[in-house]
Amino acid sequence: MTELLYQTDSYLQEFDSVVNTVLTEERAVILDRTAFYPGGGGQPCDLGTLFVDGVSFPVIKVKKQGEDVLHFLGGDAHLPAPGSACHGTLNWSRRYSLMRTHTAMHVLCGTVFRDYGALVTGGDMEPLKGRMDFEFENMRGELVREIEAAVNEEIKKAHEIRVRILPRDEAFQIPDLIRTKINLLPEGIMQVRTVEIVGLDLQADGGTHVRNTSEVGSIRVADYKSKGAINKRIYIEVV
Ligand SMILES: [Zn+2]
Repeated sequence: MTELLYQTDSYLQEFDSVVNTVLTEERAVILDRTAFYPGGGGQPCDLGTLFVDGVSFPVIKVKKQGEDVLHFLGGDAHLPAPGSACHGTLNWSRRYSLMRTHTAMHVLCGTVFRDYGALVTGGDMEPLKGRMDFEFENMRGELVREIEAAVNEEIKKAHEIRVRILPRDEAFQIPDLIRTKINLLPEGIMQVRTVEIVGLDLQADGGTHVRNTSEVGSIRVADYKSKGAINKRIYIEVV
C-alpha cells in the first residue's frame, strides 16, 4: 500500500520513501509513500525522477493499481533492490500547470452550473489545456464569450480552495456532492476526498489543485463543439 502524499499536500515537489516492491518485467517500483499523482479524474500522471543509491531513474509513467502506486522507470540502469531508500522529485512545471488547469476546469464546471444549470458528463486535460462535456441543451456559440468572462471573473475573486477527507457517510449528506455523481463511488470506498472552491464548487475529487483561484491566471475558451442536441463540449486554455 502506498501512502498518497499529494492528497494532503499538492505543493510537495520532492519526498523521501522506501522501495517496497520491484516489478522487473514492467520495470516499475512500488514505494511506501509518493508525491507522484498516478493519473485519474481527467488529470494525467506526474513525471519526474527517482534517485536510488546514486542512480537517477526517469519516471516515465505512474499508475494506480489497487492500493499501490506503480512508478515506471526509464533508462537501462539496474533496477533498485526492494528495501532501498529513495528520493523522488516531480517535474514541477508540468505538475503546477496541471494544478492550475484542474482548478480552472472546476471553476468552469461551477460557473456553468450556477449560470445555466448544466451538468458535467466528462472531461480531460493536459498541461494548460482541457475540454469538458456538459448536458447543456441551450448552449450556443454566442455564449462562449459570456462563459469565458464569467469564469475569469470567478478566478479573479481569489476563492480559497479547501481539500478535505471525509467519512463516506458524512460526504453523502452533502447535497452539492450528489449532483456530481458521488453515488457512483464504489461501495468499498470508506473515505471521500472533497475539493471545494469556496463559494463556487464542491466535488468528490482525487486530483491536485492550487490553493487559490488567483493562481490559475486566466482562461480562454478555445473552441466549442455540439456533440448532439444535449451534449456540448467546451475547450479551454489556461494563460
Ligand atoms: Zn476534478
